[in-house]
Amino acid sequence: MASASTSRFKNTTQRTEILDEVRASHGHLTAGEIFERVRRRDSRIAYGTVYRTLHLLAEHGLIQELTFADQASRYDGRVDRHDHVHCLRCGVLLDVDVPVALIARHVAGEQSGFDITSHHTVFAGICPACKTVEGPGTVSDGKLPARRA
Ligand SMILES: [Zn+2]
Ligand SMILES: [Zn+2]
Repeated sequence: MASASTSRFKNTTQRTEILDEVRASHGHLTAGEIFERVRRRDSRIAYGTVYRTLHLLAEHGLIQELTFADQASRYDGRVDRHDHVHCLRCGVLLDVDVPVALIARHVAGEQSGFDITSHHTVFAGICPACKTVEGPGTVSDGKLPARRA
């Protein structure tokens, strides 16, 4: 990992606080959620600082930023290769390790001629908790749920 870039972080304490929050949660939080948590410890921190720091941390490989088309990015303290399941109803995002994804990477490289450097699979569906609440079979209205901010 590049070492020269650490000096780009203006405030090491805030950076550490933000990194701690991402690593402490297993829920793949959004920038807004991380901001709420960091603010409990440091009431003067600005949302923009959290947002920019998250981008820098991701750029430096200390966390992963997971992007979902039109939804807020989620931040992952786990940086080794893994996959996710994403609930289309409640938005929960959980880790899964899917061995076949490694084969997919090889196939993608062969078909495109790319040197694939990273890949990540999101399996979208309905989580057990949501299935229990609303029952199976009501999934296919094709709409995403209203998300909490
Ligand atoms: Zn759910
Ligand atoms: Zn993850």
